[in-house]
Amino acid sequence: MKKPKLSLFLFIDAFGWEMKQRHPEFLHGLIADSKPLETILGYSSACDPSIISGLTPAEHGLWSSYYYDPENSPFKWTRPLSVLPSFIFDRGRVRNRLSKWVKNRCGFTGYFQLYAVPFKNLPLFNYAEQRRIWEPGGLPHGKSIFDLLSKNNIPYYAHDSSQPDEIRIDRLKKEIEAQSIEFAYCSLGKLDALMHAKGNQHPDIGKLLNEYDAQIRDLLAAAEKKYDAVSWYLFTDHGMHNITGTVDLISEIKTLGLKWNKDYTAFYDSTMARFWFKKNTARNAVSAYLENHPKGRVLTDSELKQYGVFFENRQYGELIFLMNSGLQIAPSFMGKKPCAGMHGFDPADPDSFAQISSNKPLPESVTKIQHIHQLMLEELKMEGEASSEPLDNNGSDKASPSSK
Ligand SMILES: [Zn+2]
Repeated sequence: MKKPKLSLFLFIDAFGWEMKQRHPEFLHGLIADSKPLETILGYSSACDPSIISGLTPAEHGLWSSYYYDPENSPFKWTRPLSVLPSFIFDRGRVRNRLSKWVKNRCGFTGYFQLYAVPFKNLPLFNYAEQRRIWEPGGLPHGKSIFDLLSKNNIPYYAHDSSQPDEIRIDRLKKEIEAQSIEFAYCSLGKLDALMHAKGNQHPDIGKLLNEYDAQIRDLLAAAEKKYDAVSWYLFTDHGMHNITGTVDLISEIKTLGLKWNKDYTAFYDSTMARFWFKKNTARNAVSAYLENHPKGRVLTDSELKQYGVFFENRQYGELIFLMNSGLQIAPSFMGKKPCAGMHGFDPADPDSFAQISSNKPLPESVTKIQHIHQLMLEELKMEGEASSEPLDNNGSDKASPSSK
């Protein structure tokens, strides 16, 4: 016998609006409605928590991965490792194994990567996503859809980020065939990785999308067999830019002659540099240098507020420098070499836009990735349920149950 209802939220990392337009064959004939969604400035570490909570990073507390916090750094014990020669850690596989080891020793359950953060700098920083966000209690502030599902005893599936895409889909299909769930959130990561490696125009993208197309059609057919009403949403958190050039910002800042961790500290993401200062002279020198930089811009407080990433306590940086679109900081603390594709540039760029597609009409009020949370609440008939907690650290852009 069929069960009454299943809601599927299927996430393909970096399958943005531009990519969707270039591949009209993808799920052709199944999509009833589709629209672009504004992304959030930053990376998946900021976007994913916003999708599952309806909140901005300023509200849920997760923006970039690392932030300056030498007093509470969970990495103090790694100090002795800094004497080892860096070439040992520069190999990808060694670094991956080390990431797992550090993650376990720190007791983190969330997504963790050491990336290319120099070991000598690690004890200066704290790590934001310490807990797994795909389960109840995963967010520092506010509630995610998983808190609500658990509180209301709704059986659901959430992907396991440590497993490859095929296994994530396979496990979801088994749950569907067993009719053991009413809700699913399944994230697929291969496309993002492929485009980081090969850019957003490579022929392998079409091949991968064909694979996804077949797997998703198969999944949806299985769902139709076992449930009377199946709603599905296929969406993403951001698009992908091709990298057109690099900037060695670390070396440039060093030429200012300031002392690391005495005058200033910085974290170099792939597309943003974030600074904290101990001396006003250092602040002035870095500001003056970056204000006149031809390859990026210093973000104003009002821009940060508009993007929902303004933190009163400047947790993620007192000065945020965003690269011009297509230019990657390399080397950075995220990688020594540039990628072919990268996201985390200006959210207003066409290549930054996310998208959502569904077998149902999409409401006009859904225009930003954090509004996907509204669709989840509607599917679960929990429209009135507040998911946020009062915070003193609000961004101006309240993700809006009010827009309904
Ligand atoms: Zn990515």
